[in-house]
Amino acid sequence: MSASSTRFGAGISGTTRTVALLGSPVEHSRSPAMQNAAFVALRLDYRYLPFAVPPGALRDAVKGVRALGMVGANLTVPHKERVIPYLDELSREARLIGAVNTIVRRGQRLIGHNTDAGGFLRAFREDTGGRVRGERFLVLGAGGAARAVAIALAMAGARGIAIVNRSGDRALELVRRGRRAFPDMEWSAPGVRSLPTARDVYAVIQCTSLGLRPGDPSPLPREWLEPRLIVYDLIYHAPTALLRDAQGLGARHAGGLGMLLHQGALAFTLWTGRRAPVAVMKRALRRQA
Ligand code: NDP
Repeated sequence: MSASSTRFGAGISGTTRTVALLGSPVEHSRSPAMQNAAFVALRLDYRYLPFAVPPGALRDAVKGVRALGMVGANLTVPHKERVIPYLDELSREARLIGAVNTIVRRGQRLIGHNTDAGGFLRAFREDTGGRVRGERFLVLGAGGAARAVAIALAMAGARGIAIVNRSGDRALELVRRGRRAFPDMEWSAPGVRSLPTARDVYAVIQCTSLGLRPGDPSPLPREWLEPRLIVYDLIYHAPTALLRDAQGLGARHAGGLGMLLHQGALAFTLWTGRRAPVAVMKRALRRQA
């Protein structure tokens, strides 16, 4: 018997509880290693299993979470928004963001949460030492991750958020969403060619996919950056051009691994009711880097 089947196979019994990862693709996800390491560390008889689910099969897959009595699930690309009609209830942040990354089953009811938001806040504070309340932020991007970040910042008391995105209409849409929920905050969508002055920004949160591929340019001109800015980049695979520029200036900066860790830790607690073994989860993530 191989080491891996001893660890994750032989222990499965009739009482083992399961959590699913539903996405497409899921092969490269780091979440199974992170969550299963946490279950082992706390001696919980749970398993976290990835399932490649094409968009057309999502409805059936979610019904399966209920029918099979699973503890819950994680959703990843491309399901975070499409899953909403199949759920019974949403948390406040999932409703405001319009996306769900975690499902918790309570009896026959499926409740949708968004732990990307809380995960980002924890990681931003922990990894950069930055604060949120009363500060102004520049958010780059207007996709699902940018929505989670913008709503998280608003819920945590930010003073203002400027959204800059390649497609300006999506930035405007996110500003309208933010303004509806948090009308007293300063919201703007200045456009890629008319960035706010760095002096008026406390921190830049990079939420585009630029930087995923080696050789991708930075979404911000290096001359725009200042040493006093905080730069947080959601990309966690490798230091991006933006992070290298921030480092070169001596600005506080961090990549997105902490967000991945903390969204997972929050989901773990929602499923198990237990405090997540964050150090164990972090080690499991780092081993896959
Ligand atoms: P989406 O596909 O929903 O959004 C992608 C965003 O990137 C859009 O704003 C898009 O602009 C922009 N973009 C894509 N390519 C370019 C380009 N060449 N130049 C400028 N802008 C570009 O993806 P998500 O929001 O879900 O994810 C975004 C990134 O965040 C990903 O890299 C993902 O890995 C990372 N992420 C990290 C997490 C973590 O835990 N650390 C959690 C979630 C995401 P446009 O609207 O014009 O297309």
